[in-house]
Amino acid sequence: MCLCCIDCGKNTRVCLSQLPYIHPNATDMSHSPNQISFGKVYLVGAGPGDPGLLTLKAKGLLEHADVVIHDALVSSPILAMVSERAQVIDAGKRRGRHSLLQEDITQLLIDQAKTHAAVVRLKGGDPFVFGRGGEEMMGLLEAGIDVEVVPGITAGIAAPAYAGIPVTHRDYSSSVTFVTGHESAGKYRPKVNWRAVAQGSETIVIYMGVHNLPHIVAELTAAGMAAETPVALVRWGTRPEQEELIGSLATIVQQVETQQFQAPAIAIIGRVVNLYEILAPASPMHSPHWAKLSA
Ligand code: SAH
Repeated sequence: MCLCCIDCGKNTRVCLSQLPYIHPNATDMSHSPNQISFGKVYLVGAGPGDPGLLTLKAKGLLEHADVVIHDALVSSPILAMVSERAQVIDAGKRRGRHSLLQEDITQLLIDQAKTHAAVVRLKGGDPFVFGRGGEEMMGLLEAGIDVEVVPGITAGIAAPAYAGIPVTHRDYSSSVTFVTGHESAGKYRPKVNWRAVAQGSETIVIYMGVHNLPHIVAELTAAGMAAETPVALVRWGTRPEQEELIGSLATIVQQVETQQFQAPAIAIIGRVVNLYEILAPASPMHSPHWAKLSA
């Protein structure tokens, strides 16, 4: 059982073997004569929405942070875990509605770390999976700020799982590719090579793909994927409002249009989608305890 601060030796309520260390007087950065003058930024994954999927490490940080800067996709039950004394800043970015530019967010993190001991940058899913966590980490290190990543459960695994779709299965798929459907070639990231994706993997999991789905389906079909290849879309995965749409490469675009199916959703393409019929009834979403657990 660890009871003392590693920097100053003072007693602490936090067990260092279980939680990332944050001094109990975290806002008072003068407690140790040897302490560096800047605080630390934690790039924390909040998971896909179900608060039960938050890691213990993330929960400990939310309870001890001085400042929490979060994205739009972080669910409200998780934000409710943030300490009452923490300052909470919404840096939410949704498609076409950037409330803060990425450079401004990185600068905000730097500024906050200069005035607070523990700054949590809270991101939906995992910070390094299409979350720009790598960019923020590089910016912080360049500015001389101490930074640590706390991985989260990514939507590309959890949303299919809560819909009864395992992304790999010994009889259906030995490989999975995670790919972005939001292509802005040359601006943010290299263009996706859809031909290589179609030919290189038995399961394709697409983030941010709803808007661009007609283009993606055309590219995958042109690359030789059969029109009857099963496709699932899972919207707001792991949250009480989760919705699924099941079809095939031939039908999914029309289904999305007819049903006005909206982002944010994960698309899953491949034979594993056939397991939906068998496994979806056992999804946590259908558990009688779900409402209680997710409250
Ligand atoms: N870092 C995040 C992904 C951010 S990109 C992660 O690891 O999960 C944002 C995209 O993730 C959304 O457009 C959507 O495609 C997907 N996404 C995030 N949360 C989701 C959820 N609860 N259900 C379905 N898709 C989700």
